[in-house]
Amino acid sequence: MDEDSSHIDLIAGFKEQLWKYLPVAVYACNREGFIIYYNEAARKLWGRDPVPFQDKWCGFSRLYDKDGTEISAGENPLMGMLGNAPEGQQLELLGLRADGDYRRMLVMPGKIYSAEGIVEGIYCTITDISHRDETERKQAFFSSLVDSSDDAIISKSLDGIITSWNAGAEKIFGYREEETIGRPITLLIPPSRLAEEDHILSEIRKGNKVNHFQTVRVHKTGREIPISLTISPIKDKNGRIIGASKIARDITEQVRIQQSLAQYTQNLETINELIKSISAKMDVQEILQQVTDATTKLTGASFGAFFYNRKNEQGEAYMLYTLSGVPRAAFEGLGMPRNTSVFAPTFNGSAIVRSDDIRKDERFGKNAPYNGMPEGHLPVVSYLAVPVVLSGGIVIGGLFFGHREPAKFTADHEAIVTGIAAQAAIALDNSRLFEEVKALNVKKDEFIALASHELKTPLTTISGYLQIMDKKVTEPSAKKFIDKTINQVARLNRLIADLLDVSKIEAGKLIFEKEKFDLVALVKEMIESFRYINNAYNISFNSAIDVAYVTADKHRIEQVINNLLGNAVKYSPDNFNIEVRFELVNGAVKVIFKDYGIGLTQEQQSMIFSRFYRAENTNRVPGLGLGLYLTKEIINRHEGKVGVNSVFGKGSEFYFTLSLD
Ligand code: ADP
Repeated sequence: MDEDSSHIDLIAGFKEQLWKYLPVAVYACNREGFIIYYNEAARKLWGRDPVPFQDKWCGFSRLYDKDGTEISAGENPLMGMLGNAPEGQQLELLGLRADGDYRRMLVMPGKIYSAEGIVEGIYCTITDISHRDETERKQAFFSSLVDSSDDAIISKSLDGIITSWNAGAEKIFGYREEETIGRPITLLIPPSRLAEEDHILSEIRKGNKVNHFQTVRVHKTGREIPISLTISPIKDKNGRIIGASKIARDITEQVRIQQSLAQYTQNLETINELIKSISAKMDVQEILQQVTDATTKLTGASFGAFFYNRKNEQGEAYMLYTLSGVPRAAFEGLGMPRNTSVFAPTFNGSAIVRSDDIRKDERFGKNAPYNGMPEGHLPVVSYLAVPVVLSGGIVIGGLFFGHREPAKFTADHEAIVTGIAAQAAIALDNSRLFEEVKALNVKKDEFIALASHELKTPLTTISGYLQIMDKKVTEPSAKKFIDKTINQVARLNRLIADLLDVSKIEAGKLIFEKEKFDLVALVKEMIESFRYINNAYNISFNSAIDVAYVTADKHRIEQVINNLLGNAVKYSPDNFNIEVRFELVNGAVKVIFKDYGIGLTQEQQSMIFSRFYRAENTNRVPGLGLGLYLTKEIINRHEGKVGVNSVFGKGSEFYFTLSLD
């Protein structure tokens, strides 16, 4: 073999290998279209091995043009090569493989010539562009997402230079794309927050994402915008971090809703506090002031005023008023609001007046002498006036608010003030009732003091004469009547003494004369005399201690024991057992009186220590309802305690304590 022919062989071998393993799919057909050759890449692309001289034109099951229209087997575009179709042109086609997958490809057919220059067959190279196509589509999809997003989507380099800017960013920040690309992102950051960017970039360099970071950025006009930021690192295909993408959402509306919710909650709290506080108050001036202050604050008024109709002791009407937001001096010289057409609806309770600009209201400025606001009146443009009406329709006053700017009061403000006005009316009415009751109470106390004093004098005289008669009269039946009379007079005396004690307590004039004595001895002594008088009763005594020295007003403590023992007897009509016992509790002595009588409900127990209170079921038992009141006053003033444990229908345990010497 000469050198030339071995060279030729080498080249032929190279060609064969080249065709076979070329990464581009290549195949050839004869004039009839039968596939006569295909390489590895073509086999892979088709996903099958066509049988040479049997399969025609290509190895796909079906062919489509690039828009997806099927090309019938008889119209294979390669056929054109057999005629005059020019070579070197690319066709974009879709092929369906035997396994059901599609391939998008660029097909470039060419002609195979014989030595004589006749077209003997066709060859074809195919480039698979399915993958490229998908990437393109993905890119198109993403860029349309970025374009259409309402969020600002911005990318920046690791040194904070803006590299892309979408329409959303323009909408939020006001800059156009060309104004921002290449400029630092700090353009959008308020000076006080520049440190945030260092933090963000350092997180990004570490490969971390910054999620939903709420902050503030600046619009082109300088306006600050609350935004929520999510920033993620951008990596190149080797995973190196090369920048950051940033999604910014304008949360102005969200923040506004949050703030108005917070404001709403705060308003509710203020209203709640106010209502709680005024319903517990009895002082009119205080209620008026609190209501005025709270409503002025809630409506955002420059000032608020509460005019309240009152009657003095002579029954003459006058007006009380409180102010908020202005010193009293600002109103002092202005005279009370009169029944003008602006004020009338409020003072007669017929309507709420709310005006964005009261000067433009047709009712305004019609009355002499001012024909509008009097000289020196604070400027009022926005105006809100709400009548304060009792449930029976009686108007007790009005709440007035002013603001120097127009349109400051809304329907919400009107509703809030109306609600508070209704509560204020109740509170004011309660306080009026309370004041009336207080005045009556004073009168009653005066009467009790006077009556008991007036009763005491003749009674003392009667007692004196009875004593003389008792000595003089010897006839037994007459003596019996005199004894009975003396007993009844003694009872009357005790009642009057109790009444006098009550007035002394009210006047702060109950005086104690304290001495040291043995409480055990005193109680025993008194039980003895009780046993003597009420011999039907079985009064037991029990004590862990023999003596209990206390320093107290002995006469008053006697009165206490008398009351408690007396009640135990009085309120136990069907059970004659009474137990008295002593206990020691923390250095104090506790004396307990237990009976098995009618008992008391929980509600009654909470009332029995007040003046003149008597439980409903005690009507037939004589008494004024003063004993326990006096007992409590006396023991309290000895720094001791009084109490009761009782079960209705079962009996009661009353006790008092005194500290031991
Ligand atoms: P009075 O006995 O004159 O009515 P008190 O002040 O001593 O006045 O008592 C007030 C009320 O408490 C009585 O009217 C009665 O209803 C109730 N009460 C007092 N002691 C007892 C008791 N031991 N058992 C049941 N109820 C009692």
